[in-house]
Amino acid sequence: MVVDLHVHTAISSRCSELEPREMILRARSMGLGALAVTEHGTMHGGQVACELGREEGFPVFAGMEVYTPGGDILVFGVEEEIPPHMDFRDLHRLVREKKGMMILAHPARGYWGHRRMYKGLPPREVLGNVDAVEILNGGCSYHENVMATRMASESGLPQVGGSDAHALRELGRCVTVFPRVAESLEELMAMVKGGECRAAYLEDTSARNAHNDAVYARERGPAAGEPASHRDGLSEGR
Ligand SMILES: [Zn+2]
Ligand SMILES: [Zn+2]
Repeated sequence: MVVDLHVHTAISSRCSELEPREMILRARSMGLGALAVTEHGTMHGGQVACELGREEGFPVFAGMEVYTPGGDILVFGVEEEIPPHMDFRDLHRLVREKKGMMILAHPARGYWGHRRMYKGLPPREVLGNVDAVEILNGGCSYHENVMATRMASESGLPQVGGSDAHALRELGRCVTVFPRVAESLEELMAMVKGGECRAAYLEDTSARNAHNDAVYARERGPAAGEPASHRDGLSEGR
């Protein structure tokens, strides 16, 4: 199962133009098996999108992205609202209590020169207390993702990918590949925590190939894909 684990929608992220129903339709046509909506500082968008997903028959998991002084954390498995800029230790305590999951998002964003965005590398304590690291983030540069990969490898943490999409065209830029379908958030969290997943660019997954095949078949249409003039010529020759 291929999942985009990091998406912002217009439901509760003011910085996003992504309309949730369009998001679900596009995700399905791309070959994704599920999505996780992770709005900034609130579970609300994720819960609404989750409900829409149920209507559309497409699994959407509810999470949120929490800013902490130790870095941006994707949180799953916590129902209540979490105050913005929560202290990392308090957040960690809360998530553990709820048996939830914490993923360190884009840990090296800004490291390669965007000083305005650079918050500093996450402290060792953060890497020692998250369940996984987002090593491929669709909004990060190649070098930032390489740096994140190194961080995760050195800490021996599971590695995931997410698009960080704020617009339809950004959906699925980076994904997480699981060996089997997660029927529930608990199953998804268990696979991430157990390292039964890998980060990938969508074009490197079989989901992408299935999507390309579908688009190709649609463009080809019923007439075997040859130009009209060529087809005409052939029929005249018969
Ligand atoms: Zn972030
Ligand atoms: Zn984000």
